[in-house]
Amino acid sequence: MKILVAEDDLTSRRILTAVLKKWGYDPVATKDGLAAWNVLQQPDAPKFLLLDWNMPEMEGPEICRRLRLENSSNPPYIILLTGRDEKGDVVLGLDAGANDYIVKPYDPEELRARIRVGQRMLELQESLVEARDALAYQATHDPLTGVLNRRAVLGKLAEELERAKREKKRLSIGMCDIDFFKKINDTHGHQMGDKVLIDYVRCMEGQLQGSDCLGRYGGEEFLVISGPSANQDLCLYERLRKRVAALEVFGPSGPVSVTVSIGVAFATEESTVDSLLGAADEALYRAKANGRNRVVYDSDLSGHEIGGSLKPAVRACLESAGTRY
Ligand code: GH3
Ligand code: MG
Ligand code: MG
Ligand code: MG
Repeated sequence: MKILVAEDDLTSRRILTAVLKKWGYDPVATKDGLAAWNVLQQPDAPKFLLLDWNMPEMEGPEICRRLRLENSSNPPYIILLTGRDEKGDVVLGLDAGANDYIVKPYDPEELRARIRVGQRMLELQESLVEARDALAYQATHDPLTGVLNRRAVLGKLAEELERAKREKKRLSIGMCDIDFFKKINDTHGHQMGDKVLIDYVRCMEGQLQGSDCLGRYGGEEFLVISGPSANQDLCLYERLRKRVAALEVFGPSGPVSVTVSIGVAFATEESTVDSLLGAADEALYRAKANGRNRVVYDSDLSGHEIGGSLKPAVRACLESAGTRY
């Protein structure tokens, strides 16, 4: 474990560094508070700090205060190691944010034991942070395909809709539903169905760019959110459809093909999350009714889409792709 040693007295610094090395630690020695602060700004900064109180440039308690202001969820463990032994100093040091306080001259075995205490605290803290991050991931991602789950993708849609209105930029969503997916399960088994879902998602993701986003809306329905920070690509949905149709998923009974139907809606100033989803759903329904394996745009393309009228642009895009609409 790396330990930052901030100590302006050369002899004390050398002794402390030597003793830490002997105990198997990896000391990073600095001779004043500012140098210590600079080390702490590095990406792989030590998480364990042994700070002197009185040092040029920045005193130990000031470093503690600054670190605590950062409000990190994984803060360093700090021991103030100082000649100041008044009771008031101990209180000041701990109140500044130190975890522990040792008065010089220190007993080496006590220092070693206190470092072990700190190390245990850091290990516990890291495992809590890991567990919290894993839970946050599980709460927002679909376990099968790894994309955002329904709640998370709807949250993202609400954010992006707000942003599109604020920045007056285009935003579209595509409700993508695999065609006759039940038949794939029935013919090739549920496991193969799962594999198709995974490969299908990877295929779709490969076509997205910038802040475009894909989430699992339910079963074999996935929601694409495109724009506004990505340069809204009007041919995106047609490209998704084509790439999926060209996809072959290999399984024990040979390659399996899939197609997807996509209902697309563009945001207007009046759009809400529900109205956008409703419009995309309605377009998807028509894509299914009109024969599947196709992209259908919200029939209401009204000319009031954020970012300007889309009808001609969407038409041009579909025509260039040779698609009937
Ligand atoms: P359509 O073209 O009208 O969309 O027909 P479909 O068969 O795709 O639609 P339907 O809604 O009848 O069936 C969807 C199927 O998707 C049923 C369900 O068992 C299956 N499914 C949903 N989630 C999963 C999953 O995680 N894994 C597998 N293997 N199948 C799933
Ligand atoms: Mg000093
Ligand atoms: Mg389906
Ligand atoms: Mg469905």
